[in-house]
Amino acid sequence: MKKIQMVDLISQYKCIEAEIQKGFDQVLNTASFINGQQVTQFANNLENYLQVKNVIPCANGTDALQIALMALDLKPGDEVITADFTFAATVEVINLLNLKSVLVDVDYNTFTIHPEAIKKAITPKTKAIIPVHLFGQCANMEEILKIAQEHNLYIIEDNAQAIGADYIFSDGTTKKSGTIGTIGTTSFFPSKNLGCYGDGGAIYTNDENLAHKIRGIVNHGMYKRYYHDEIGVNSRLDTLQAVVLNAKLPHLDEYNKKRMNAADYYDKEFANHPNLQVPTRAEYSTHVFHQYTLKIVNSNRDELQKYLLEKEIPAMIYYPVPLRKQKAYFSDDYKDQDFIITDQLINQVISLPMHSELEDEQLKYISDNILMYFNTKN
Ligand SMILES: *Cc1c(COP(=O)(O)O)cnc(C)c1O
Repeated sequence: MKKIQMVDLISQYKCIEAEIQKGFDQVLNTASFINGQQVTQFANNLENYLQVKNVIPCANGTDALQIALMALDLKPGDEVITADFTFAATVEVINLLNLKSVLVDVDYNTFTIHPEAIKKAITPKTKAIIPVHLFGQCANMEEILKIAQEHNLYIIEDNAQAIGADYIFSDGTTKKSGTIGTIGTTSFFPSKNLGCYGDGGAIYTNDENLAHKIRGIVNHGMYKRYYHDEIGVNSRLDTLQAVVLNAKLPHLDEYNKKRMNAADYYDKEFANHPNLQVPTRAEYSTHVFHQYTLKIVNSNRDELQKYLLEKEIPAMIYYPVPLRKQKAYFSDDYKDQDFIITDQLINQVISLPMHSELEDEQLKYISDNILMYFNTKN
């Protein structure tokens, strides 16, 4: 059996090696390293895939969030609501721009921001909500859209973990994750569902004015060379990374399908187990399983993780500390009674190996060992 990894990028590369090498050669032989035609091509390809009017590539998913916020013309002290249970990039950029991050609790079943918690956190200074489509599944966008409309708020969807997922509205229509709110952002970090071979990111929107503004911000606020209309940043997708993404995008649905199949396998093995809760699949979203995250109930999660590591099965805790308890973002304003779910989840969650190259033999070894662990305990 092949060694089990959280992600297996080498096996995936081997399947598209020739195309990528050819693309790299083209770039190397034309030296069009910055803003080469492959970057524009990729933006067009992703626009078609997502059915969104504008995709603006940038340097990484954290920049994408920062640039999205910069485009909204917020003022210092304006409040932005996001989830306490997510990767730190989301809250980092809010604070970097001298905005005030307001962290709220999440839903126990879906791990995503809780609409009722958003409502409770709204003040006259609230300007935007950043729902994070955590682990591969959309947040409850229909509820969030309602709240945003009622209070006149922007929505930035952090879609770093759910590219390719479909949001299903109650009338049956669907939209790709990240294309529902004001702006969507994503990351092409190598381990993401659509990853490049270094850092990369993108911002998308159907709003032409915002798209124009964002195109300026990613490039020093320049629309005409050496004329700077606003304060921007330098955030570009390398042409070499665009080659990788152009090769991989046509396979994204197939990669996601393989993740879903692996998730189905785990689900079946762990169904109705007294100590294991399999990930909930919300009725309003497909799930592209960036992570397969179990909840361990009435048992010691950390002991299980140690046991698995001894069996050479990697398993990770996403995330071990809520953002409001991180040194950088700590505030006395937060009361533990408002974060009961987050505090519960950080003790219960464990993410199993999940990628497009998992083999049945590996899935069986992983699930057998998890079931064995509980059999020997009980
Ligand atoms: C990965 C990730 C980011 C940041 O992406 P980078 O490309 O690493 O900067 C932001 N938000 C979430 C939820 C992520 O998972």
